[in-house]
Amino acid sequence: MSIVVSNISKFYNTQKALNSISFEIKQGEIVGFLGPNGAGKSTMMKILTTYLDPTEGTAIVNGFDTQSKSIDVKKSIGYLPEHNPLYLEMYVREYLEFNARIYKISKSRIEEVITLTGLTPEANKKINQLSKGYRQRVGLACALLHDPKVLILDEPTTGLDPNQLIEIRELIKSIGKEKTVFLSTHIMQEVEAMCDRVIIINEGEIVADKHLNEIADKKEQIIEVEFDYRIEEAFLLGLPNVKEVQNTHGFCYLIIFDTTKDMRSVVFDFAHDNKLKILQLARKNKNLESLFRELTNKNT
Ligand code: ADP
Repeated sequence: MSIVVSNISKFYNTQKALNSISFEIKQGEIVGFLGPNGAGKSTMMKILTTYLDPTEGTAIVNGFDTQSKSIDVKKSIGYLPEHNPLYLEMYVREYLEFNARIYKISKSRIEEVITLTGLTPEANKKINQLSKGYRQRVGLACALLHDPKVLILDEPTTGLDPNQLIEIRELIKSIGKEKTVFLSTHIMQEVEAMCDRVIIINEGEIVADKHLNEIADKKEQIIEVEFDYRIEEAFLLGLPNVKEVQNTHGFCYLIIFDTTKDMRSVVFDFAHDNKLKILQLARKNKNLESLFRELTNKNT
């Protein structure tokens, strides 16, 4: 196992940020740690990287206890913190050389990470001349310098434009072929794009831990419908095979059916019989978005 977290709780004075969290991550997995803002993601990342001690419980990273063997943990992980701290006045190669000298890393490794992270064309530029996407690459290059087995990335794609986002996702996915990656995000599309598995955290507790291919539930069918005026959910609950109805906003509803039979015509007939007009209707599969919404009770 690359990471074993057992019953971790963390209090900031009286504020409980994590409540008895446990999970394990195998070598080579790319795992997304997904939760709304304030859920406790950064706190968990800081504990795994030894920057914070838990109030209770233990975390073992690459076989080392984060509290009693913090130096060994630091040597075996690469960490990209949420606000990627860089020396903006330094040149890219100079910055990597500076970090490599601190950790006594060979010059040849610097060139390797420059190539690996796609920084070759920018290597002679000052960091403050780089776009946010390229600054993230510098942060990743730095985290990779000592060739760690585990990479811990706190919100690595926040603030990137759509093109930069795709490039950084691709880079993280390709790095993930060689290493264990644990990354936090509040954006579920990030998890779908990069990860094998998702751990969902809400208010300091783990509410789901699943492989992404487990999430698409073929037996469940979701119909999203918009009517021309508001109706009581109870009416929709009277439809055959209905499991759940949610009024998502305005006159829009998610109707979750417990059947594989296409229920769109049933919803059309319902609208017709009740003199409602359908403005939009779509059939969806259960996905990470519906699971996230269900478990964290938030529209994101
Ligand atoms: P996330 O990364 O998911 O947004 P955090 O781990 O930053 O969540 O925060 C979890 C909870 O702990 C939040 O309620 C936050 O306000 C609180 N918190 C985080 N850091 C501190 C701190 N240094 N002092 C007090 N409360 C904190």
